[in-house]
Amino acid sequence: MESWTYRLEHVRCGKPCKACPHGPYWYGYRKERGKTLKKYFGKEDPRHKESSKEIDKIVLEDPREAIFYEETATKDLAYEILELPFNTTWPEVKEKYQKEREYLMAYPAIDWVAVEYLSAAYHYLKNVLTTSS
Ligand SMILES: [Zn+2]
Repeated sequence: MESWTYRLEHVRCGKPCKACPHGPYWYGYRKERGKTLKKYFGKEDPRHKESSKEIDKIVLEDPREAIFYEETATKDLAYEILELPFNTTWPEVKEKYQKEREYLMAYPAIDWVAVEYLSAAYHYLKNVLTTSS
């Protein structure tokens, strides 16, 4: 049976491109006869497909990547990414997100990875803070 170690990665296409880096996309890694194989799985979390009954491991390149996974995302991490105290209310979160985003987008070389962490943190908190009341 195949058992992959999954990883979410951002990809640079190498062309002069405004959307770079693309993704994140899922890739799987495994070793076979001493060689490391890499497989592209696309945008959707491949671990939810029922055929993979093996225990799969997630490797995080950056601790902030945990915000992309249902199992590992936490409120504290989301606040950390947004650089806010842990009890900030929703209107303040929204305001901070908009400011941070504007700030990031104002640079000529936009850090798209930072933008993705930011918006993932924002959407996570939106779910948590606006549905509990
Ligand atoms: Zn590109």
